[in-house]
Amino acid sequence: MIDLERRSIVYLPGVGPRKAELLEKELGIRSYADLLNYFPYKYIDRSRVYRISEIEGNMPYIQLKGRFQYFETVGEGRTKRLVGKFTDGTGVIDLVWFKGISYVLDKYKPGAEFIVFGKPVVFGRTYNIPHPDIDPVSSADQVASGLTPYYSTSEKMKKSFLNSRSIQNLIFTLLNSITDEFADPLPEYVLKRIGMTSYREAMHQIHFPDSAEKLRDAQARLKFDELFFIQLNMLQTAKLRQLRIKGLLFSKVGTYFNTFYKDYLPFELTGAQKRVVREIRNDMGSGRQMNRLLQGDVGSGKTLVALLSMLLALDNGYQACMMAPTEILATQHYATVIGFLEDMDVKVALLTGSTKKKERQKILPQIENGEIQILIGTHALIEDSVSFASLGLAVIDEQHRFGVEQRSRLWKKNKEIPHVLVMTATPIPRTLAMTLYGDLDVSVIDELPPGRKPIKTVHRYDTNKAQLYDFLRKEIQLGRQVYVVFPLIEGSEKLDYKNLEEGYELFKEVFPEFTVCMVHGRMKAVEKEAEMKRFISGEAHMLMATTVIEVGVNVPNASVMVIESAERFGLSQLHQLRGRVGRGADQSYCVLVSSYKLSNDTRKRLEIMVNSTDGFEIAEADLRMRGHGDLEGTRQSGEGIDLKIANLASDGQLLQYARDIASDILLEDPELCTERNIQLNQKIKSLFSSKINWGMIS
Ligand code: ADP
Ligand code: MG
Repeated sequence: MIDLERRSIVYLPGVGPRKAELLEKELGIRSYADLLNYFPYKYIDRSRVYRISEIEGNMPYIQLKGRFQYFETVGEGRTKRLVGKFTDGTGVIDLVWFKGISYVLDKYKPGAEFIVFGKPVVFGRTYNIPHPDIDPVSSADQVASGLTPYYSTSEKMKKSFLNSRSIQNLIFTLLNSITDEFADPLPEYVLKRIGMTSYREAMHQIHFPDSAEKLRDAQARLKFDELFFIQLNMLQTAKLRQLRIKGLLFSKVGTYFNTFYKDYLPFELTGAQKRVVREIRNDMGSGRQMNRLLQGDVGSGKTLVALLSMLLALDNGYQACMMAPTEILATQHYATVIGFLEDMDVKVALLTGSTKKKERQKILPQIENGEIQILIGTHALIEDSVSFASLGLAVIDEQHRFGVEQRSRLWKKNKEIPHVLVMTATPIPRTLAMTLYGDLDVSVIDELPPGRKPIKTVHRYDTNKAQLYDFLRKEIQLGRQVYVVFPLIEGSEKLDYKNLEEGYELFKEVFPEFTVCMVHGRMKAVEKEAEMKRFISGEAHMLMATTVIEVGVNVPNASVMVIESAERFGLSQLHQLRGRVGRGADQSYCVLVSSYKLSNDTRKRLEIMVNSTDGFEIAEADLRMRGHGDLEGTRQSGEGIDLKIANLASDGQLLQYARDIASDILLEDPELCTERNIQLNQKIKSLFSSKINWGMIS
């Protein structure tokens, strides 16, 4: 029996060393299994053979059956082409080649019967088909029996005659040469429960479907497998973590929490905040170690929830820390927290990369002896020199900015493993959250504090700036402040900084009566801070910035967000930026400025922004439009998910189903060590052990 995973593709008849190298380089196909798992990206219905007399304007790809009458070469130089007169008795159509002429003449002899596949195009007053696929009628069974699969290939491969058709041929050879090797990855009892097509049948049908229905069944089965094993792996990780790690037991709600809640909390918590605080309290009081993801739109009040959770840690004799991705944010959190705790006796400290050596020398021992109860900071918190007396809770803000490695390092800060609360303002669609963070429990704040007016969003073209300037002038005269954001895109930083700086000069000219300040990632921390402070204090009316202000920054008096070159931002990022305004009582605005020439997709993106302020709705739209592989947040941290066949935007139900089944299996056998589950255990090991360890996220 051949081991499909190990057998190199080079041994497949028709491949050889040169093609093997191409397959590996271009498509990552190394083994027989890799080839079988290279699925078609589309299918074209070839069940019908058209008559030439039926051809009319604007048809899709069609199929003809007939013979060549003769070939002729037409034109000179660059327009030189080969025309084959092809007939089926109902008419004659020109098949046309601009390249590979001698190959065609050699292969397709007049008189023999062929099946032709291609898209008719109008040429003058007749039709022709450029570069059609042609097969002898004798192989019609293989190529023309209904749905024909299409495999994506690269230009490089096509040049070496490795096109979709040749991949199809290779898979045909492979499928015909193996039989017993198709062990079903799912045990009998699971198969019975889900009642889906067998693995072996699915593999045949996905590549050579007998009918649309059988293809759908095959797709469902393979999608199920893909989603199921991810869920099984993640849920098992969570489960084992639960079984093996003893969580710190926060059984008390004590003076810190109660005093703050009753005496100093300046407003009523929203219903959603109350619910989430309860969820966190339950977690930390359960004896299990908490790993929770808290999602909530910008401004939904996550910081306060974090603070209440940290006070619970203090009530139980532990320290808490809160880590933010940037200094500006850490500083702001620090200010917020000491503001809230002003009249309480809690020792809070700030530690960032720019904390002075003297200050650092003072803080470090106080962290180590437990005097500092709440530590707020940046990555500096996870440096080796920082050692807590008893860390009970680690809050990580805007989690996607941290890599897997950094998050797991927090764990090692302690003899005991702290509870972990990860907060994100980038709403993640449910299906994506289940796949990326499926081992975390998820809480959602889906309600904004009362009294907020929805932000008005408009889209303007950069050809009409005068109107925009008038509007900004009016708003500032009313006492408001304005953000103006420029894109900063990887690879074009130089140009982007130039745009920002030119914009800055321009605004100073246009608004001589106002104060304009600027921050960007290239400034020194002190400079940046000084500029930020000018804006926060209200001295500066306008802040020009790159996306450094994207997350967290809170200036309630700023009520206008202008986003320049809005077409260059992703939906989630636009939503994040917009969330910087709308924090005070005034009506807030977001102005998306773009060039006039936009692709349809971009136009739609900006339209969604104008029409919706719901972060989850926007994230779902983003997922639908761009696909999961491309979503911000996943890409930033290099945690992209590589799904071969399932689609998180459209397979939500199947995902939930797969997760439920995985969960049931683990309920009975968390270690997956009973005989009937051994193969599942081996499968997830072979799938996930060498790749990303999903379970290490958090
Ligand atoms: P997030 O971190 O989720 O973006 P914040 O925690 O910064 O949101 O909260 C945004 C603003 O709303 C802050 O000024 C905060 O003090 C305020 N806020 C939070 N919760 C409430 C509430 N329940 N009622 C009124 N204001 C609130
Ligand atoms: Mg926040």
